Amino acid sequence: MSRNEQSSATPQGSIHPTSRLPAPVEWVARPLARLSVSHFNLRAGLTSDCLISAVLIAAGVWYGHLRPALAAVTVLCGLFVFTFIEYAAHRWLFHGNTGPFRAGHDHHHVDPLGYDALPFFMPPLLMCVLAALFATALPAGYALLLAGSIAAGYAAYGLSHVVIHIHRFKSPLLRRWAGFHNIHHYHPDTNFGVTTGLWDVLLGTHYKRTPRPAHHKA
Ligand SMILES: [Zn+2]
Ligand SMILES: [Zn+2]
Repeated sequence: MSRNEQSSATPQGSIHPTSRLPAPVEWVARPLARLSVSHFNLRAGLTSDCLISAVLIAAGVWYGHLRPALAAVTVLCGLFVFTFIEYAAHRWLFHGNTGPFRAGHDHHHVDPLGYDALPFFMPPLLMCVLAALFATALPAGYALLLAGSIAAGYAAYGLSHVVIHIHRFKSPLLRRWAGFHNIHHYHPDTNFGVTTGLWDVLLGTHYKRTPRPAHHKA
């Protein structure tokens, strides 16, 4: 089996305790840290991210008595909001001064084919909390649909990140898309978006090739 077949890339930052912690915290943090670098966790995470988005969207559609146009706008809003969450988490959480998240993501930069990922149950739990929060301001069906769409964006991000690191695309368009994140691995201060470079372009963090100095002939 090749290295690429054996392992996969991280869809998101894992949790790596960076310093000595009080004993009760360590009893929880150590097993979570071990889980977050396991192959089982990576696969379970990708699966549970897809499942939770499908369940939330299906629940919203089933119970919500939704109006089709408003439902479509809600889905687009959820996906759009997720593109910013993806950018902000990568730029300010994984590359910020945020202890365990930073340490886990640094590990991904050292070994892009490693298994680092958040414990598989955390993102689905977070999506359920989001749905509950949205339900305080929106009708339940739209709240479920919005959280489900954000969860779908997150699942797409996780799958995209894995594929970008393990697959060599033939299509020039897809090579360019994958190259956007691969450049981030060489220039970590640029290209924080994975599924889209939109926010890098808007916020000025997209990689700009510096022109080579012109060769002057005497
Ligand atoms: Zn990566
Ligand atoms: Zn990074």
